[in-house]
Amino acid sequence: MWLGFLLSAPAGAIDRGADGEFGHRSSAHFELYQDVAIDRAGGFRGTRHFEQQILTELESAYDQLDDYLGLRPRRKIEVVIYDPRVFDQQFSGAFRFAAAGFYHGVIRIRGATVLDVRLSRVLHHELVHAALDAAAPSYSLPAWLNEGFAEWFEARSQGKRELNGTEHSMLLSAKSNGALFPLSSLSAPSFGHLNQNAAHLAYLQSYAMLEFLAKQRGERSLREFCDRLMRTHNLARALKHVYRADLKTLEARFVAELG
Ligand SMILES: [Zn+2]
Repeated sequence: MWLGFLLSAPAGAIDRGADGEFGHRSSAHFELYQDVAIDRAGGFRGTRHFEQQILTELESAYDQLDDYLGLRPRRKIEVVIYDPRVFDQQFSGAFRFAAAGFYHGVIRIRGATVLDVRLSRVLHHELVHAALDAAAPSYSLPAWLNEGFAEWFEARSQGKRELNGTEHSMLLSAKSNGALFPLSSLSAPSFGHLNQNAAHLAYLQSYAMLEFLAKQRGERSLREFCDRLMRTHNLARALKHVYRADLKTLEARFVAELG
């Protein structure tokens, strides 16, 4: 569930996988490479069906992303789906928490042999990072915003709106323990340095902040905010224009509304 940060993996490298060979297939907006250990090539449980399912899911996410956040990357996005064992071997040392995928020029996913909800969510999440990067390659967003957009879109595309009870309780208890992160401390480009518990809270807070913004002026405001931010690279002005307040004020309101 906590994904997406920068690390110094060689961009674009397609390494040796489970069987040493990555299947390649493309669609209108994606180049897919996958090396999940699936025995059969054909049939309902075969690799061809799996690859087609993944591409269909990605293309559908692409359209949703345009709709919800106005992001529509022009260049094709590379997606590599690894056999879980190979992913862990290659990347587990890169972060301090369990990752299901990350984006660093290429979307890299810890795979599964079926397209389940978990895999679908990871694809949606990482697509946001890729699309934000494509829209403004020279602009390094604060992590809370980059992850917030990704978490919000991942949840929204599954039909989820607003925080659930567990999420709210966790934030409320962090607030009463004085453990909430000030957003200024979540403004580095990535959460990769955080340990598992801290990362969990950081992702949740980022998601909750985006939900909070969506509630202020409706969920369409996120689209306008994102568009303005990608064009101007000026967070303060984009917030002021869309939400009529500065970050400190919005953050204070967010914390107060937790209860
Ligand atoms: Zn992420």
